[in-house]
Amino acid sequence: MSKTIAVIRGDGIGPEITNASLRVLDAMECGLHYDFVDAGLSAQEKHGELLPAATIDAITKHRVALKGPLTTPIGGGFSSLNVELRKRFDLYANVRPAITFPGTKARYDGIDIITVRENTEGAYGAEGQTLSADGEVALSQIRVTHRGSERIVRYAFELARRSGRRKVTVVHKANIMKTTSGLFLKVAREVAQEYPEIVCNEMIVDNTCMQLVMNPMQFDVIVTTNLFGDIISDLCAGLVGGLGLAPGANIGSEAAIFEAVHGSAPDIAGKGIANPCALLLGACQMLGHLGMEDQAARLRNAIRDVLSRKDRVTPDLGGNGSTDLFADALIESLRGHG
Ligand code: NAD
Repeated sequence: MSKTIAVIRGDGIGPEITNASLRVLDAMECGLHYDFVDAGLSAQEKHGELLPAATIDAITKHRVALKGPLTTPIGGGFSSLNVELRKRFDLYANVRPAITFPGTKARYDGIDIITVRENTEGAYGAEGQTLSADGEVALSQIRVTHRGSERIVRYAFELARRSGRRKVTVVHKANIMKTTSGLFLKVAREVAQEYPEIVCNEMIVDNTCMQLVMNPMQFDVIVTTNLFGDIISDLCAGLVGGLGLAPGANIGSEAAIFEAVHGSAPDIAGKGIANPCALLLGACQMLGHLGMEDQAARLRNAIRDVLSRKDRVTPDLGGNGSTDLFADALIESLRGHG
């Protein structure tokens, strides 16, 4: 197969981890070609715009993008470029897997949880407002719709079905937030009935946080609204060793953008020690999205192999390797010389 994807190298450590990741993908010879475009600080410096039209066009055309982290300059036109991209392409599903890899600081062995977070509405839809002249009363609204809830819950169940997962946990706070979270839960119950082979359970968000810390093995796929998903997916990332191992996919019906969850890490940019693993795990999600599940599994196995040996991993994972050494080790492992 041959497929062109848009690639945004991004800012800070973005170019280092993206170049390393592309070297690894090239070594896999899975038929990917790249259309390089810019966004963020680097785009502003080169083209005078944070999100140039050529970048939007490339994502629209190829429908799939691999994206390094972006720095949104303070005082720029957008509150967040990532939020802008999600809105522009209606990327309604934020999919964040958390997997335990041996040799890392994971809190438990054997965690394999996917959080599916609604990405376009909920508590993050509105800017909010200050109500009193003294600035001491502020108000923000939460917007939940039947359509928004239905498509995200359906996405989670479809994901569970095609990946052979057995359980979806619907996380809510419908006991207190009876209208908004109540609507989400009601729709989730309706959708769940269409997937009788998958166990659907419901859990209140505060209890979910405690259960995740105490007994994470009970979870498989979690589906929830925007704010709860944001918090829960970071909690899951912490369970498996932190941001260096946390990828994310932003998926809509017209486009999908795959990335690392971490930012542009200006404190280590240019030092050659950034960990490319989160972006590569994002690339695994991308390969799965493109129908190349075998290649995704192959890459995940190589990551598992190199992480478990520890000798060439980056300092954030306790090694004394570099970004390039890490990529070299992955390529060797992929070629069977690991
Ligand atoms: P950050 O994630 O960039 O860095 C937090 C800490 O984690 C730093 O100490 C950094 O060195 C370390 N770190 C992050 N990624 C690493 C990696 N791959 N390897 C090794 N160490 C790593 O968070 P921040 O400092 O709060 O944000 C920096 C910039 O990134 C800001 O401009 C922010 O807006 C942006 N940001 C972008 C995204 C995105 O594009 N997805 C996400 C978060 C933050």
